[in-house]
Amino acid sequence: MNPAYDAVRARIDAAAQRVGHPVRLLAVSKTQPAQAVRELAALGQQAFGENYVREALTKRRELAVLDLEWHLIGPLQSNKCREVAEHFDWLQSLDREKLIEPLNRYRAGRPAPLNVLIQVNIDAEASKSGCAPDQVGLLAASVAAAPHLRLRGLMAIPAPLADTAARNPSFTAMRELYAALKSTFPQVDTLSMGMSDDFEPAIAAGATMVRVGSALFGARR
Ligand SMILES: *Cc1c(COP(=O)(O)O)cnc(C)c1O
Repeated sequence: MNPAYDAVRARIDAAAQRVGHPVRLLAVSKTQPAQAVRELAALGQQAFGENYVREALTKRRELAVLDLEWHLIGPLQSNKCREVAEHFDWLQSLDREKLIEPLNRYRAGRPAPLNVLIQVNIDAEASKSGCAPDQVGLLAASVAAAPHLRLRGLMAIPAPLADTAARNPSFTAMRELYAALKSTFPQVDTLSMGMSDDFEPAIAAGATMVRVGSALFGARR
């Protein structure tokens, strides 16, 4: 039993019901010990998100007996492409062309392609990674052409405005970008947006995956 997990799941399911499509929960386990991941895994949680490659690999090694799905959601430095291609199932933060060739090359020979989301800097924040909205088409075409990568959709982290309702225009802009992407690449099926304090409005705006950390695990140190 885990009241936080049950509560988040129930809120996601209710919001998903309202929009009429399923929504996946990515449990963001950065800074949390392997034991915290083990506890949620025991309740049926499969997908976990990490921001730092080194931390993720340590945890993954500790939990190797479990059949979990690991997502990198933090910025990717080009010198980490090999580790990401070899040890993650999803990369949610692809934001530039030069990462595509090494990711594809290092993924070759693995049983499944690396699932890729293109991260969009939807509010044009200077400090945030992610590509500009008008770059999505070119990046998507490159990912789609790479045989060992699988284009799955888009990810965004709207500017953390204190009033969460003020984030709605960013969510709506993402939904429109996602719809445009899907008309060119019908295989895309994932719009990743929404975190602990705004996953319900994100789902209402069209998110198919939400990334939740502190609402599940408590505040990070
Ligand atoms: C940390 C993080 C989250 C989870 O944030 P919470 O507010 O703890 O739910 C989601 N997405 C990204 C990209 C993150 O870095």
